[in-house]
Amino acid sequence: MGVTYEPDDGTTTAPTPHCPECEFLQDRYETGHGRYILLEFRRELPSYDVPAGQRWLIRSDGKAVNTGEAELPATTRCRFPHRIVCPCSNPPSGTTLRALWEYNSGVAPRLDPPAAEAG
Ligand SMILES: [Zn+2]
Repeated sequence: MGVTYEPDDGTTTAPTPHCPECEFLQDRYETGHGRYILLEFRRELPSYDVPAGQRWLIRSDGKAVNTGEAELPATTRCRFPHRIVCPCSNPPSGTTLRALWEYNSGVAPRLDPPAAEAG
C-alpha cells in the first residue's frame, strides 16, 4: 500500500514534484526498493498523529522507510504521504491530519493544528 512515484524512462524528474491532483509540492524520496514515495512537503508529525502503515522515517542515507505496523516511541516524529492530506482526497480521520487537510483545502486560512492536550 502507499502511493509510489516512478519516473518515466528517459525523462528528467524534478527533485520536488507536484501532486498530480492538487499540484502542491511534495518531497520525493527513494525507498529501499528502488521506488519513490511522495511525502507531504517539509512536514512531519508526532508518530501518534499518523496511522500505522503511513509512517515514514528518513534514514541517514536519505532513503525513506515505512515503519509498517511497528510501535514507535511517542517522541518520534515521522513523515507521511501527501495523499492523506491532499485536498483532492476525502478528509482523513484524526484531528491533526484533518487540520492539515483543511489547511491544504483552503478551508482553514492558516495552519493551526490543535495541541495534543487541548480539548
Ligand atoms: Zn495533492
